[in-house]
Amino acid sequence: MAKRDYYQVLGLNKGASATEIKKAYRRLALKYHPDKNPGDRAAEERFKEAAEAYEVLSNDEKRKRYDRFGHAGLSGSSGFGSGGGMNMEDIFSRFGDIFGEAFGGGGFTGFSRGFGGGRSRVQRGTNLRIKLKLSVADIVRGVTKKVKVSRLKQAPSTTYKTCPVCHGSGQLTRITRSLLGQMQTTSTCHNCGGSGEVVDGVPPGADKNGMIREEETVSIEIPPGVSDGMQLKVSGKGNGAPNGGVSGDLIVLIEEEADPQLKREGNNLHYDLYISFSDAVLGTSLEIPTVTGKARIKLAPGTQSGKILRLRAKGIPDLNGYGRGDILVHVNVFTPQKLTQAQREFFERMRHDDNFKARPTDRSFFDRVKEMFE
Ligand SMILES: [Zn+2]
Repeated sequence: MAKRDYYQVLGLNKGASATEIKKAYRRLALKYHPDKNPGDRAAEERFKEAAEAYEVLSNDEKRKRYDRFGHAGLSGSSGFGSGGGMNMEDIFSRFGDIFGEAFGGGGFTGFSRGFGGGRSRVQRGTNLRIKLKLSVADIVRGVTKKVKVSRLKQAPSTTYKTCPVCHGSGQLTRITRSLLGQMQTTSTCHNCGGSGEVVDGVPPGADKNGMIREEETVSIEIPPGVSDGMQLKVSGKGNGAPNGGVSGDLIVLIEEEADPQLKREGNNLHYDLYISFSDAVLGTSLEIPTVTGKARIKLAPGTQSGKILRLRAKGIPDLNGYGRGDILVHVNVFTPQKLTQAQREFFERMRHDDNFKARPTDRSFFDRVKEMFE
């Protein structure tokens, strides 16, 4: 099924403010909350759809990308943009706060009653952040990088006992009277965080929750076309959480290493080519380095300094699959600085030759710049 426009999902216009977005999401989340719509699949879908829209539009960076590229702009970095959708656990652990007091204080508590007993809250580990340096070649081809990450994990020999406060249910129930009559509200147990169990014994080296740090090699797939400053998310490779909780994410910040020969500008690469005066006069054929090999170019006799040649689709692939940038070759004619007596005499003679006199060429500087951006 095609995804609906996120603004449409939240009933907003494109220019909506952060406050409007939050308000709209809260309204929909309460309307389609599983507690209010038990067993209603359509409501559940709306609930998830609204959370997904909010996840993107409440994040400045994601919103910008979405505004520019639509759903395609989010694939690869959002964790769900390429299909999946958000699950209920994600929604409650990330946006539970938005429900405030509307559902028994925790926001999460209602969920467990509707969606399968026992544990009401799943703890979520914190995210880990790393920087990853990539060469222009890595970016052009896309690459899988293996990195060592020190993650918090539950030590396997941690032992548990039943929580003495909630006696294992993970919930505390309280009866209150209101205008509508007697109401039973359930909240998450403050002692065990809703898991119904507390740590009994931890192995040496672990913290009080039985968590230890362990080095792990994580494989990170980098799609072609990423750029400096971009963040990728590897789901579930952050820190683990105690009590069988959900692991956080590994956030990978992309750092682009400058290439000594090819300067990046968007998805285009610029290459400064120096040719001899004779090659400019007589024309030549030579090789230009591209990150994936070499490309042969031909320079016509009488090539002017400043000419720009475009090697189509030899640049950086677009991250969202919209084609590929170009390599722009800037031709510079190198002027010899030391001459022999014979050469000096040759140029002295040519200086007054009409054919050697400077004159405007057919392409002005402005035409060339314009051409580059076409
Ligand atoms: Zn408890």
